[in-house]
Amino acid sequence: MDLNVTGMDAVVVGGDTRAAGQVSGLLDGGARVTVIAAEATATIEDLADRGLVTWIRRDVVAGDLAPYDLVLKGHPTTAADDDRILGTGSVTLVGGGPGDPGLVTVAGRAAIESADVIVTDRLAPLAALSWARADAEVIDVAKVPGGRSTSQDEINRLLVEHAKSGRHVVRFKGGDNFVFGRGSEELLACLDAGIATRVIPGVTSAIAAPAMAGIPVTHRGLTQGFTVVSGHVPPGHADSTLDYTALARSGSTIVVLMGVRTLGAICAALVAGGLDPDTPAAVVADGSLPSQRVVRATLATIDGAAVEAGIGAPAVAVVGDVATIPGLDAEGIA
Ligand code: SAH
Repeated sequence: MDLNVTGMDAVVVGGDTRAAGQVSGLLDGGARVTVIAAEATATIEDLADRGLVTWIRRDVVAGDLAPYDLVLKGHPTTAADDDRILGTGSVTLVGGGPGDPGLVTVAGRAAIESADVIVTDRLAPLAALSWARADAEVIDVAKVPGGRSTSQDEINRLLVEHAKSGRHVVRFKGGDNFVFGRGSEELLACLDAGIATRVIPGVTSAIAAPAMAGIPVTHRGLTQGFTVVSGHVPPGHADSTLDYTALARSGSTIVVLMGVRTLGAICAALVAGGLDPDTPAAVVADGSLPSQRVVRATLATIDGAAVEAGIGAPAVAVVGDVATIPGLDAEGIA
C-alpha cells in the first residue's frame, strides 16, 4: 500500500483473508485499525485478542463508517452487504399532525427542510411541503379510497431504495405515524434493510381533532382515560378484533378513527354492550382545517346527526361524558 496511513483511523469491512491482509498492511503503516465483521479469520481474531485491532462483531449498518479517515472493504459476501456499506442515506418518519401546518413539530419541520426526498400521502398537511428544498423530490403515494393506490410493500421499497442511494428520506404522514399509520411497518422494513432510521412523533388527530373543538379526551371527575379504536371494519366483521362489550364497560372516553361509514354499527354495538344510549357523543370532521365541523348528539343519535349534517372523512367520533363540555365554536369562543 503506497498510502501514508500513519495516525489514521482506518476501518476494514469484512473479516476474510483479504481483509486480514489489509489489516496487517494498515498496522504496519501505523494506522489505528477497526474491523467490522460478523465473523473473522483466526489472524484477525488473534490481533483483536492482543488489543492490536478493535473488532466490532457485526455486519455494517449505514452510518457505521462515518467516523473513520479511511475505509477499506474486505470482501462483502452479497450485493445487499455492498449496499449497506455504501449507503449513508436515512429515513425519518415525520408525523404531520391533523392538517394545520402550524401543528407540525419543530423537529418535523427541520426534517422536511433538509430532506432530499419526501414521501407523502393524502392526510399529511400538504402546505408543509412548501418548506421543502426546491430540489427535493416529492413522491405522493396518496391512497385515495377506491382510486389510485400504492401498496405498502411498494412504499417500503421506495423508502429503502432512496435511502440506500444515499439520500435523506422523510416519510410524511398525517397525525402520528404510529397511530393507524403503518409507521411501524415502515420502521421495521428500514431497519431490516440496515437503514439509519429516526422517528419524529406527530400530533395525532385522535386527541387533536376533539381538542380543536374544545373537547378534552379526559376531564378530572368525568373520565380517567380514553381508548382509541379503528372503525375501519365494523363490529362483527371477520377482521374485527375489538371487544365492544368490554369497550362499553370500560368507563373510558371512546375515540373512533376511520369510522364515518361504520359509526351506526359501532354505536349499536356499544349500546348492546351496555353503554347508556344517552351518553354524549360528538363527531369532529376536518379537525384543525378551515373546513372543520362539529356535530354533537348522543350515542343513540350521533350517526343520524352526522349523516344529516353531511359529515365525511376525515372525522373523529368521541363518545363519553367529555362530549358534554361546551367546547368552542369556529372562532374559538366558548
Ligand atoms: N395517523 C393518523 C390517523 C390515520 S387514520 C393520526 O394519528 O391522526 C385516518 C383517520 O384519522 C381518519 O379516518 C380520521 O378518523 C382521522 N383524522 C385524520 N385527520 C383528521 C382531521 N383533520 N380531523 C378529523 N379526523 C382526522
